[in-house]
Amino acid sequence: VWGRCLEIIRDNINHQKYKSWFQPIKPVALDGKTLTIQVPSQFWYEWLEEHYYNIMRSTIARILGEGARFEYSIVLEKAEQDNDDLAVRMPQRSSPPAQESEGQTGNPAYGFDSSYSTEAIQNPFVIPGIRKHKIDPNLNENYVFSQFIEGDCNRLARSAAIAIAENPGKNSFNPFFVYGGVGLGKTHLIQSIGNKIRQDFGDEFSVLYISSDQFTNEFVHAIRNNRAREFSMFYRNIDVLIIDDIQFFSGKEKTQEEFFHIFNALHQDGKQIIMTSDRAPKDIQDIEERLISRFNWGLSTDLQMPDYETRYAILEKKSLENGIEFEGEIFEFIAHNFKSSVRDLQGAIIKLLATASLQKIDNIDLTMAKRILKDLIKETKKHISIEDIQKMVCDYFGIDPNKVREKTRKQEIVEARQIAMYLSKTMTKSSLKTIGLQFGGRDHSTVIHAINAVEDRQETSPKFRQVVKDIRQRVELAIM
Ligand code: ADP
Ligand code: MG
Repeated sequence: VWGRCLEIIRDNINHQKYKSWFQPIKPVALDGKTLTIQVPSQFWYEWLEEHYYNIMRSTIARILGEGARFEYSIVLEKAEQDNDDLAVRMPQRSSPPAQESEGQTGNPAYGFDSSYSTEAIQNPFVIPGIRKHKIDPNLNENYVFSQFIEGDCNRLARSAAIAIAENPGKNSFNPFFVYGGVGLGKTHLIQSIGNKIRQDFGDEFSVLYISSDQFTNEFVHAIRNNRAREFSMFYRNIDVLIIDDIQFFSGKEKTQEEFFHIFNALHQDGKQIIMTSDRAPKDIQDIEERLISRFNWGLSTDLQMPDYETRYAILEKKSLENGIEFEGEIFEFIAHNFKSSVRDLQGAIIKLLATASLQKIDNIDLTMAKRILKDLIKETKKHISIEDIQKMVCDYFGIDPNKVREKTRKQEIVEARQIAMYLSKTMTKSSLKTIGLQFGGRDHSTVIHAINAVEDRQETSPKFRQVVKDIRQRVELAIM
């Protein structure tokens, strides 16, 4: 069998490479559809997996049929032979026997588990080779597209997410990078992709959702246990890798480096990579330039706070789900007062629902709702929104807040608009793009121009500087 494999491989790769990487391999056992081959070192095995995975997989399938695979047996290197610690150092990730593989591996861990039990392995020197991982995707099943309300704030991100779920890896959104503030739906959206892939494709794609913190912990743990290579192999075998809150990689150089290599391997193999962060790639602190540039290879897009109508729709859906109806004015009140995060918005309706059911009130009126939500509103006001800033600036100058979003070029309005843009940039985490959009769909160069103008003028005019300072203070007071 191996001889026939070699013939096919020889015809398909460069002869020099064939000679150096394939000729030294020896077949050692054939068990059903599994051919075990012996390679000279751990490194050899990794190299094959990294560079010849596809051809080896298709070759063995051609000869032994669908589902055929390789396992590797590694010739022990001298240094390792005398090592007491061998059991820990050898690769241990073993595939469960075929009969009991279906959903009952008995291992609740997700991601790479560096303490993966050694007992389960009959022969620690055989690494399961070419096969799909059966892993726990670590997804929350409630995060699905049907529960994700569409609005202008998320239209692009949502439709890209659906396109990715329909065609993982083979689309122009790879990697897919979603950013935006806390509670705007990033986790919900990216998990929806994972859930849809699982639902539509079953085991065809191995999907893994993991937070960047968890990834870091696993990596540190793997290093400590001398299992960094296995860690790396584990991640390189995933088809759809979803990493949440990537801003937590900042300052973690080793983790970044590891992720960089995993990213490259996956991307090259046409595997789907999905990431989120609380800010745009270029604004993430202490992260390597080469990573940042990769984050922008596919599609990077932001989620914004839903507009009033979308907020209203989210509230309606949430209360409908819970079988309680509220007066429209209650939804209006909540939608007007919770403008900085969908999580807070939902928190408000959940609090009402909970109070209604605990106190057995079937009809909460507006006065009651206001009383119940008073404390929550105070808390959430701590986030400054662009809308708050626009309002305070316009109050200060005595102009209509809608004016700063319109196209008018009247001098006093231009000035108010520029100050509001400047404060939006310095007092919120919003991107230039987001700010431009909230000021009537202006582009980011207009926003940059406004910020520069305000900065320059503060340098030259103490009076103007005082005005900006006053407004800033008012905004800060207003949200306390
Ligand atoms: P993030 O990861 O950006 O901090 P989450 O994905 O955790 O935010 O979202 C916070 C909460 O808001 C979740 O309960 C999520 O289901 C809900 N949510 C966010 N956006 C939407 C939306 N567009 N439609 C429905 N629910 C949403
Ligand atoms: Mg999140």
